[in-house]
Amino acid sequence: MPGGICRRKFAKVMALIVQKYGGTSVGNTDRIKNVASRVAKYHANGDKIVVVVSAMSGVTDNLIKLAKDIMPLPSEREMDVLLATGEQTTIALLAIALHAIGIQAVSLTGAQAGIVTDGVHTKAKIQNISPKTVHEFLDLGNIVIVAGFQGQTIEGQITTLGRGGSDLTAIALAAALKADLCQIYTDVDGVYTADPRIVKDAKKLAEVSYDEMLELASLGAKVMQSRSVEFAKKFGVVFEVRSSLNENPGTIVKEETKSMEGVVVRGVSLDKNQAKITLVGVPDKPGVAARIFKALGDATVNVDMIVQNISHGTGTPATDISFTLDKPDLLKAQKVIDSLKKEIAFGKVITSESIGKLSIVGVGMKSHTGVAGKMFETLANEGVNIEMISTSEIKISVVIELAKGEQAMKAIHAAFIG
Ligand code: ADP
Ligand code: ASP
Ligand code: MG
Repeated sequence: MPGGICRRKFAKVMALIVQKYGGTSVGNTDRIKNVASRVAKYHANGDKIVVVVSAMSGVTDNLIKLAKDIMPLPSEREMDVLLATGEQTTIALLAIALHAIGIQAVSLTGAQAGIVTDGVHTKAKIQNISPKTVHEFLDLGNIVIVAGFQGQTIEGQITTLGRGGSDLTAIALAAALKADLCQIYTDVDGVYTADPRIVKDAKKLAEVSYDEMLELASLGAKVMQSRSVEFAKKFGVVFEVRSSLNENPGTIVKEETKSMEGVVVRGVSLDKNQAKITLVGVPDKPGVAARIFKALGDATVNVDMIVQNISHGTGTPATDISFTLDKPDLLKAQKVIDSLKKEIAFGKVITSESIGKLSIVGVGMKSHTGVAGKMFETLANEGVNIEMISTSEIKISVVIELAKGEQAMKAIHAAFIG
């Protein structure tokens, strides 16, 4: 451009942001209006916004209760049809709240947003997302509101993604849309060293690695659904957990960095939602354990810890097998076990719902010794008996009496984190 001045306009680059608001954040119409004005602020910056919402707090639990008042083990297909209504209510209410303040917004069910899952009702896995419709509505200037926790099979059946599954919807959408930012808004300021409702001294973490978050989540820290963290790790989705009620910075969840290894125990979690089944006098011969756990797997029961005690008695060799599972799966598991009784000829079946799984998690455990000893000693000093133990490179879990769970959690937090 001879003689002229080259002026380049630095237009603001438009970002695509996925925000997820959980049950408490949309728990009543005032909270929904609050979410609408938060979302509107981001929209006013010129960014494209996709909002994922959960059912209003308590709604999913209520729907489950209604079904169980009718029969104890309702059809899982019908449960999905029922539970999906919770999130469908919220998307429409949030769209209406945005319209009320003059903002263009459209709500989409999981199916309309292109979320395709397998057919495992109540625990479906996302197979793929076709974000065409979401993009089209965004390009027309809408805020797009997607129902969390739900999808649709290729055959058109409604599915849900497991409790807490709106987190997964948000992370998976962020991956599919190649979002610039993924924010999980909840009712606490971020991820803490322990559930801040139980441990008052819990500290907010500025950052946490995917692996630590995954262990904490699958061991009871319900602040994030564990499958959503698994998904984030697999697709490298960095996300922030923060509060919908203030502007405080939250916790960044991302790939592990060298500096994270300096901390031995990043967090403590307590899972109160576990049950234990013990099969007494199981014939001690090859193939029996395989038969039991294959049948449970086929019924989509997730088994966690397994302990087998070799019997040293005389006569036909027998063992006792104990395992833990999610409490809501107990009835289904009992049915499976009953159906095996004739074939396997074991003795009594003992079930317990009054157990808790207490865990410590930290990538620093890879390079520190003496952690298990300190944990067990702390529990002993509290008079807490350990029923089962399991470990991995970055965690130690123990099964203890549920009634002592919170007391034990506080003691372990004080011993390792302070
Ligand atoms: P949402 O409805 O937003 O999905 P959830 O109730 O599923 O929220 O998760 C948030 C809750 O998780 C918090 O209120 C808190 O009590 C609980 N929680 C458990 N462990 C932790 C932890 N380590 N850090 C933060 N919150 C935790
Ligand atoms: N509403 C569902 C639940 O309560 C999903 C979610 O909140 O993420 O589990
Ligand atoms: Mg949740």
